[in-house]
Amino acid sequence: MSGAPVLLVTGGSRGIGAAVCRLAASQGWRVAVNYASNRDAADAVVSDIVSQGGEAFAVKGDVGNAADITAMFAAVDKHFGRLDGLVNNAGIVDQPQRVDEMSVERIERMMRINITGSVLCAAEAVRRMSTRHGGKGGSIVNISSMAAIIGSPSQYVDYAASKAAIDTFTIGLAREVATEGVRVNAIRPGIIDTDIHASGGLPDRAKDMAPSIPMQRPGTAGEVADAVLYLLSSNSSYVTGAIMNVSGGR
Ligand code: NAP
Repeated sequence: MSGAPVLLVTGGSRGIGAAVCRLAASQGWRVAVNYASNRDAADAVVSDIVSQGGEAFAVKGDVGNAADITAMFAAVDKHFGRLDGLVNNAGIVDQPQRVDEMSVERIERMMRINITGSVLCAAEAVRRMSTRHGGKGGSIVNISSMAAIIGSPSQYVDYAASKAAIDTFTIGLAREVATEGVRVNAIRPGIIDTDIHASGGLPDRAKDMAPSIPMQRPGTAGEVADAVLYLLSSNSSYVTGAIMNVSGGR
């Protein structure tokens, strides 16, 4: 299966990213599973894929660090020798705070990981996939959030703003590379049941928010992965610059 397309998923070790890795592998992609620090989680995703007959490897790298991003893409080049898709999924929230309580360190970290990291990863992917650079084309899917629309007051307005930047980046980059074989789209998940809520100090957030969701339940990582795989695949060949809500109507 060495001719199979290659996908890099940032933050592929847990949550939405892990679901994307598993589903992509089941649909014939070879997968680079990026993680920041949880090697065991990344190895578990790789083991699952390999045990199902797929190909995957784990690659460490903090998307908040430019040198790590360069090294991560070099590792993918070395391991698979090509790149056909990128899912810019790695992202963080922080403790609930009002804007007038936030430190500069918090805001800069949020923007560095959620925005700068995604932009730098997309740039590396375009350098490999764009026909302008001798590539064969490909697809980039950015993971935004419904927070970009809602603004997340009294929780994390900085996070919401970082995701709004991802929406605009998606539209701009899609138009910039539209004639170069590269499609760029985004997904806005709503409340999805993953570890991210605990990392923001609200472990029960997904369950607690259910009554505010029109479908009255949080989504699953697998439901987001289904939408990501559609945007990665040739089934969406005329879709670029699109931002799809996967939010149960929220
Ligand atoms: P999660 O369960 O907290 O998992 C986060 C993943 O990102 C982990 O694999 C983690 O790696 C990785 N990661 C964190 N910081 C990183 C960094 N600096 N560099 C590289 N990897 C990093 O998160 P999730 O809920 O699946 O969220 C994934 C994406 O969906 C994020 O962009 C998030 O903003 C977005 N989203 C989530 C929801 C939701 O309700 N869950 C809603 C809207 C949007 P380690 O395992 O090594 O820590």
